[in-house]
Amino acid sequence: MFKSAVHNLEESSKEQVQEFLNSFDTVLSDCDGVLWINNNAIPGSADVINYFRKLGKRVFYVTNNSTKVRADFALKAQELGFIAEPEEILSTAYLVAHYLKGIGFKKKVYLIGSNGVGDELKAVGIRHIGIGPDQVKADFKSMTQSDLDPEVGAVVVGFDEHVSYPKFMKAASYLANDECLFVATNTDERFPKSSTIIVPGTGTLVRAVETCSERKALVLGKPNDYVRKFLESFGLDPARTLMIGDRCNTDIEFGVRCGFQTLLVLTGVTSTKDLEKIRSEQKEPLPDVVLPKLGNLLNLVS
Ligand SMILES: [Mg+2]
Repeated sequence: MFKSAVHNLEESSKEQVQEFLNSFDTVLSDCDGVLWINNNAIPGSADVINYFRKLGKRVFYVTNNSTKVRADFALKAQELGFIAEPEEILSTAYLVAHYLKGIGFKKKVYLIGSNGVGDELKAVGIRHIGIGPDQVKADFKSMTQSDLDPEVGAVVVGFDEHVSYPKFMKAASYLANDECLFVATNTDERFPKSSTIIVPGTGTLVRAVETCSERKALVLGKPNDYVRKFLESFGLDPARTLMIGDRCNTDIEFGVRCGFQTLLVLTGVTSTKDLEKIRSEQKEPLPDVVLPKLGNLLNLVS
């Protein structure tokens, strides 16, 4: 109803807010920067998400984070005050497993990633190797075919704090075979900032593997529309779906690509200043509505 208008919901009449609330049945919410930051809930977010449920809306948590299995995500959400079930968590770790199972993948995965993806793969019966440190040896260039597992049929890249040169060598060598699949969880550049230290995101690793393999990964996380295809099997109606996020180039871009309504909150990556810049440059997609923080929505209805 406010298509790409960057409409500040706090400047709406009560009737407009009501009309907005009536315009969607399904809510997809990003997590970090919208609902919580690291392990701290953003005040009021849980009340709003739980209020949506009270209104009879379906809620899904859509996160590019690949480091946890769905049950652990649900537990974290519950501990922070959100009503959440594992089936409502659409993390990229789960999407990778769902995708590979869906295409009948039977071989082994070489995983640059962590236990989040590893455990989700295991849960659908897909074998994997590669988690944990792969030490750089003094003669690292002497890697041979015998260092590769002939059963590997896919390279998956997610967040991996143990990423190393030997891992890139192995990934690129597996991908030299055209039949080897190349799947990535997401391409986020960085983690949301909590200090002056920059924490490189999974996109850094994906680009590195794309460069050395000279191939492009199939990326399942936002802003790609795999989630929409996944949810369509649940009868999702894009026009009556709201995507809430804190980043224009992942969450809002994803919402726009999928034909969802979009709500940007300013408690995470995209700041008020960034939003002004995006608005004047008109490069990245603009959200329909904006709120300083999600929790403020409740003040507008009470
Ligand atoms: Mg976020």
